Amino acid sequence: MMMEVAGNRLLFDYGFTASKPPAFPERAPPMDALFVTHCHLDHSGLVPEATRRHMAPVHTTNLTSEISEMLWYDSIKIANIEGNVFPFKSEDVKMAFRSIEPMDFGDEVEMMGATVRAHSAGHIPGAVMFEVVSDEVSLFTGDLNNRATRLVNGARPVPCRNLFIEGTYAGREHPDRHELELELLDRIDDVVYRGGHVILPAFAVGRSQELILMLEDSGHEVWLDGMGKRVSRSYLDNGHFLRSRGSMRAADRQVSYVKSESGRDRAKEADVIVTTSGMLEGGPVGSYLRALAGDPKNAVFLTGYQVEGTNGRLLMDDRVVKLDGDVIKVDAELEYFDFSSHAGHSDIVRFIKQCDPETVVVMHSGHPEQLAEDPELEGYEFILPETGKPFTLPG
Ligand SMILES: [Zn+2]
Ligand SMILES: [Zn+2]
Repeated sequence: MMMEVAGNRLLFDYGFTASKPPAFPERAPPMDALFVTHCHLDHSGLVPEATRRHMAPVHTTNLTSEISEMLWYDSIKIANIEGNVFPFKSEDVKMAFRSIEPMDFGDEVEMMGATVRAHSAGHIPGAVMFEVVSDEVSLFTGDLNNRATRLVNGARPVPCRNLFIEGTYAGREHPDRHELELELLDRIDDVVYRGGHVILPAFAVGRSQELILMLEDSGHEVWLDGMGKRVSRSYLDNGHFLRSRGSMRAADRQVSYVKSESGRDRAKEADVIVTTSGMLEGGPVGSYLRALAGDPKNAVFLTGYQVEGTNGRLLMDDRVVKLDGDVIKVDAELEYFDFSSHAGHSDIVRFIKQCDPETVVVMHSGHPEQLAEDPELEGYEFILPETGKPFTLPG
């Protein structure tokens, strides 16, 4: 989103959809500053493309910049493997990284006629909401979670006139997190006690670490594979963004990292393997599926949303996965657990009421009308923006 305030042109997030092939947004218009809420590619993925075209400072947390850098290089690598044209190169990543001006929660960026303050968004460690203070106050949430997880505390509301809020789960609720964890742990116990192995495909950023925290006291042998290892290191180096650095350190000590092919073979004998990619698109998960998915004693427990067209969705729908052109039938036990890091519908409603704005702009949503039409939110003025169409805020 590009916001013009007091003569400043502020770009909030600039990412792409990591589909096959990737989907890119419009070219970034000239900007005076770029604010990045968090590292997920749909928010940070094209920052190097924006800073390549327009010199501007990039404001985000240290942790977000560190992990974004990993993901930028990884995106170039994936594009090369798949033969896709990609909008930036390694030199552009270096330039983007040099443009970063790190901020912590509570820090402010001063501009002519406007101040931008960072607050925790609760979504993943290091994720920020930006409060823009000029004649009036606006809040841009980015991806938001106002419930605590094992990894991060929930976001706290910020009183504002204009609230730009994400609505990924508008119209949908999540199961209770505590009950969900108990159920997953129970199911893992069942598999291990019958002599099976559990594959937990998980996103490298956030989900892998949350599962490791959950498994700490399980008594099972747990291995971690894929980019999640580097992300865990980053989290431990930036522990003040975590709910508890001590818990993360303790949980991390219980986990073995896969560092070689022979390590990978040993991991296949372990009770639980946490590995990328979360949607079974690339990453080491393929190697574990080939080895373990044919045996009904084993289990594949998915822990993230599976987008249409991905291998993970194919698995849920047809019980097969495609690995390097081979179709592999999955006889292992299969289940999906909704470990979302986004606010559910009633969480969003509660957050809106607590911020108590006059205008609510719903972004990042397939069903924004579910919020606009919620009788609990009567009296708030809603704007449901369309990509590429500018609008003026009232007031
Ligand atoms: Zn996100
Ligand atoms: Zn997002």
